[in-house]
Amino acid sequence: MHSPTLVILAGILAALVTTVLYAVWHFNKGIPGLRLWMLSFLIASVFCASLLVRDHVSQVLLVVLTQASIAVAAYLAFLGSRAYMGRASAPHGYAASVITVVVAAAVYFTVVQPNLAIRFALAGSVSGVYFVLTACTLARGGFRNLPARYLFAIVAGLHGLFLLLRPLLFRLAMPDAGEGADAGTVALLSQFVVLESTLSLVMMAFGALMLTNEHITRELRHLAEADPLTDVFNRRAFLALLEKAISSAHRTQSGLSVLAIDLDHFKKVNDSCGHKGGDDALRHFVGLARGCLRNEDVMGRLGGEEFVIFLPNASSEGTLAVAERLRAQVASQPVLTDRGPINLTVSIGATQYLPGDSSDALLQRADDAMYLAKEHGRNRVEAMAVAQLA
Ligand code: GH3
Ligand code: MG
Ligand code: MG
Repeated sequence: MHSPTLVILAGILAALVTTVLYAVWHFNKGIPGLRLWMLSFLIASVFCASLLVRDHVSQVLLVVLTQASIAVAAYLAFLGSRAYMGRASAPHGYAASVITVVVAAAVYFTVVQPNLAIRFALAGSVSGVYFVLTACTLARGGFRNLPARYLFAIVAGLHGLFLLLRPLLFRLAMPDAGEGADAGTVALLSQFVVLESTLSLVMMAFGALMLTNEHITRELRHLAEADPLTDVFNRRAFLALLEKAISSAHRTQSGLSVLAIDLDHFKKVNDSCGHKGGDDALRHFVGLARGCLRNEDVMGRLGGEEFVIFLPNASSEGTLAVAERLRAQVASQPVLTDRGPINLTVSIGATQYLPGDSSDALLQRADDAMYLAKEHGRNRVEAMAVAQLA
């Protein structure tokens, strides 16, 4: 039924992309999902191989091999997408039961009541659903600035839909379930089906490689930008983002506030709880600060126990309210260290962007305000050039 040349070509391509993915996985074993995608392509190669030897094996064995391999390949692609998106693996028992039922039904429609059209629909059903689920899983993470995810999701989704709707195509071309159908039409449709699967296979392999690349790039960027202890932006990344925020505030004439924060008597924390206790306190502070901020607010660690936060589009009242909430939260929630709870307080300096400010001037003013808070007894918020208090 299938054109041998096309099937051979699909088999060669499947084997090639599997080899490439295996090599990429071998050198990047930490990339979530890659191993499952590689296995998915391996199983797809089994599918192609079983089509190639179809004249030399029994029909039942062939049906079991093709039906099981196409369903398992799609299920593995789905599991790979879940792993890539950091989601828990799906329960395998459910998939195993569904695939077993479909394979058993396909055997029934081969031996007891031979019906090619039903077998064809069965083959597309499970794999179609799993490819659509693969697309949905990737789409749930969003596509913004993520072209690889977009490509993979589109190809998997379209392939899944095609597999689900394929029987309709054949029904249209062969209204009487294949009996007496025009041989030319059947051959053309079969070639189209193999061609579509081959193209999807190659595109999904590209997608998997691009996702791998996207993951590595994200990890490298994170390593370059994040403070390893607290996971907030490091000094360099924070300053780069602040520069951008300043030009945006200047261009759009919108507000931009900065909070400089220094943990009070932090040396004592280290002295009484050890360096590890001090590290715990830094992470504890960051956790509390994150709870007080909006998504668009940006926090950085300038060094030691000094942090800085910029708040785009924040009003004077909003800025002071956030600073006060953060101060109160830190003061009221002790750090739980190995050597017992310790109380922590912070001194916060708040300021707002004034037209013409450089990032240095803005940070210096926030720092001056913070030192004012230290002078005035610590565990307090002081403001400079914040409309209400200036
Ligand atoms: P003040 O209230 O005036 O800010 O007093 P302070 O003790 O907090 O200030 P000081 O700048 O004198 O001391 C900061 C201490 O922070 C000194 C240093 O050992 C500690 N420190 C800096 N970086 C780290 C870190 O990454 N981990 C830990 N545990 N401690 C750190
Ligand atoms: Mg300090
Ligand atoms: Mg300090």
